[in-house]
Amino acid sequence: MGLKLHNTFTRTKEEFVPVEKGKVKFYMCGPTVYDYIHIGNARAFIAGDVLRRFMKYIGYDVTYVLNLTDIDDKIIQRSQKEGVSTESITEKFSKAFFEDIDTLGIEKADAYPRATEHVEEIIVLIKRLIGQASAYQVGGDVYYDVSKFANYGKLSGKNIDDLRAGARVAVDEKKRNPHDFALWKNQKPGEPAWESPWGMGRPGWHIECSAMSMKYLGESFDIHAGGQDLIFPHHENEIAQSEGATKQKFVKYWLHNGFLQIEGEKMAKSLGNFRTVREIVKIYPGRVLRLFFLQKHYRSPIDLTDQGLQAAASASARLKIFYDKLNKVLGTIGNIRKEIDPKTLSKSETKFFDSFEKMKSALTEAMSDDLNTPVAISVLFDMVRETNKLLSRDDLTENEKMLLVYSKKNFDDFNSFLGLIDSKEESVDSKMVDALVTLLIELRNELRAKKEWELSDKIRDQLNAMGVVLEDKGRETEWRLK
Ligand SMILES: [Zn+2]
Repeated sequence: MGLKLHNTFTRTKEEFVPVEKGKVKFYMCGPTVYDYIHIGNARAFIAGDVLRRFMKYIGYDVTYVLNLTDIDDKIIQRSQKEGVSTESITEKFSKAFFEDIDTLGIEKADAYPRATEHVEEIIVLIKRLIGQASAYQVGGDVYYDVSKFANYGKLSGKNIDDLRAGARVAVDEKKRNPHDFALWKNQKPGEPAWESPWGMGRPGWHIECSAMSMKYLGESFDIHAGGQDLIFPHHENEIAQSEGATKQKFVKYWLHNGFLQIEGEKMAKSLGNFRTVREIVKIYPGRVLRLFFLQKHYRSPIDLTDQGLQAAASASARLKIFYDKLNKVLGTIGNIRKEIDPKTLSKSETKFFDSFEKMKSALTEAMSDDLNTPVAISVLFDMVRETNKLLSRDDLTENEKMLLVYSKKNFDDFNSFLGLIDSKEESVDSKMVDALVTLLIELRNELRAKKEWELSDKIRDQLNAMGVVLEDKGRETEWRLK
């Protein structure tokens, strides 16, 4: 079964066929390091991380590159506002970026190229475009001439004539066409600048990504991804620059995330509902935010609500409690044969094994279908439920113990790309869980004795949401994991 991905360029789900057999070259548009990353950024980076890890899981040799834009109008503005160097701004927010993605369980990329370290490559690419008359110099600026690229607008589905008609905004006298864009910007007083054939200046944003992606991944590579807001003009311009220069297909598959809203509204600094990853992870662990995003398909719009985050927090806790219990039980089992021989299984053991095998293929199939993580995660929770049935028994047969080992191996495999459980994280001490649940049961029983039903029900329901089921048997209350 092959992997299918939705390609923004063709607007269809396509079978993934790499440029070079067995290898994947994958570029993700990274942050402009002038502020903390927001949760829209996080969504794209998490989706990219899961795809990259899943591709490794199914056997590809993946090279994953994520750039840092460390020279840009926004960076200059912030440095001028704060009266510090642009370097001190970019250093601070690059460091914060790496901390944030680590919290979200995102694996390190193979390279994190920075624009300021690739000015030479950028200049070479601009010279190439000027040499082919795809770009022109006006004073100390260089512009890309969009009229020279026949396919301009193909990715975003925009028609260049419509674009021209609609472009009344800020007509720049220097440009031949309103949609020409800057490849090189002449230095303004007080701005950081580099030497170039066109005088002191700095690169435009779009050309950075063309130069850096082609340097690390080749002139024609497999996947380029980012948020939907990057389709136009950023990615459209990247195609024009790269294909304009190389006359080759730049990228085979363009992948974009759906839009994100906050409590039903568009997220914008002007609306005051701008949420950074830092703010959210102060309340909810990074893995909760990760689970929250992955419970929706990456191309679907998503609405970030407190209620949704709370539900994800309960689900995440359930997963964690389950995983710790599984590890604990396996710790008591000791040495065990690893291979399961289906012929030796009893009827109920066979039922477990067969249904687990079915869930395994359902999960991989969902992931292969344009990364359908919501289905994959619901199957994962089915597996939790099945395995919990075995875990709650204390008279396990040898075969059942082997089935637990097998279940654990599968959870580890799936976690290797979903990344929902932090295996480094200190495990929840199960004695502590015991003590806490017992305490809550006592409290609840006292409340019940006082007929405070609302509070006592709340305790029961909240525990239930976390996967702890209370069963009242006469005067005693017992608990078990769902
Ligand atoms: Zn980019």
